[in-house]
This record gives sequence, structure tokens and C-alpha cells, in this order.
Amino acid sequence: MPFTIAIIGRPNVGKSTLFNRLVGKRTALVDDLPGVTRDRRIGDGQLAHLSFRVIDTAGLEEAFDDSLEARMRQQTEIALQESDVALMMIDARAGVTPLDAHFANWLRRQGRPVILVANKCEGRAAEAGMHEAWALGLGEPVAISAAHGQGLVDLLDALRPLM
Ligand code: GDP
Ligand code: MG
Repeated sequence: MPFTIAIIGRPNVGKSTLFNRLVGKRTALVDDLPGVTRDRRIGDGQLAHLSFRVIDTAGLEEAFDDSLEARMRQQTEIALQESDVALMMIDARAGVTPLDAHFANWLRRQGRPVILVANKCEGRAAEAGMHEAWALGLGEPVAISAAHGQGLVDLLDALRPLM
């Protein structure tokens, strides 16, 4: 199995934008298992000279009967089982939300390697959120802008020791 990275976090933080940037035009594998797994996309990603597999988690926007939190946890548990490291993403412009904090607490207890990624860090609107991110207890946040392709070298530096 290739080294696998799961991108997790609440809706709208920019997970799919990062997935698309890492996977680019390379073919995304279709994950056609029934049920909850239909909400995941898996692709072959590349950053500089490193190659890996990326899992984009989604489906959290459709809450149905379950709470958002329950669905988020269910998706994430599956992704964690299949990955070597999780990128826990927050939206630094929005700051740390109660859902981010709750989720980070749960994630810390899973005892899996986690890199905290603060997205939407282009421009000054993200500065306060970057400081708040430290309080999640997941170590130093890696500041990126998935939309603008910034911070990817720092993300690479955070990933490299784990690969
Ligand atoms: P997901 O729900 O976590 O998969 O988030 P998406 O990738 O769908 O992105 C949610 C929204 O955030 C979209 O409108 C994106 O264009 C926007 N977005 C993603 N990355 C960035 C970024 O680096 N900067 C800014 N300003 N917006 C971003
Ligand atoms: Mg998405």
C-alpha cells in the first residue's frame, strides 16, 4: 500500500480544494463501495518529488438523521483506518469553531499521527485564526492556502519525517 494521507475536518474548510491541488489531473480512483464510503474520494497525489495516496472525506454536509458530529466522526474513523497520517484542516479565516475544538479533542485521543493544517492563510485575515489554532493541542499549525497553492513546501516538510 502506498503512503496514505487523509484530509479531515468540518465542511467548507477547503479539504476538496487541497485534494484537487495534490491530485491534480491524475486520475482519482472511484470508491464504489456502498454506504458511507461513497462520500470519499481517493487519488494519487504528488508534492515535489513525493508520491502518496490522498483520501478526501466529505458527505458531512448531508446530515440526514445523524448529527453533523456523528457523521464527521464516522467518516473520519474510516479514513483514519486507511491512512498513515491525517491532515486535520481548519479555516484560519473563520478561526477555531466549537466543532473544530470538539473534533480535535476526539482526534487527539485516537493516538494517530496528525498534522494540523490552517487553510485560507493568504492575506492578513488569517492571522488571528493561526494563533487560535495552537490551542487545539495538535502541535504547530501548518499555514497554507489551498486555493492559491501557498504553504505547500511547509506541508511537505511536515509530512516528510512521517513517510
Ligand atoms: P470542503 O467542504 O472542506 O471540501 O471545502 P472546499 O474545498 O469545498 O472549499 C470550501 C470553500 O472554501 C470554497 O468556496 C473554496 O473555494 C474555498 N477555499 C478553499 N481553499 C481556500 C483558500 O485557500 N483560501 C480561500 N480564501 N478560500 C478557499
Ligand atoms: Mg469537500
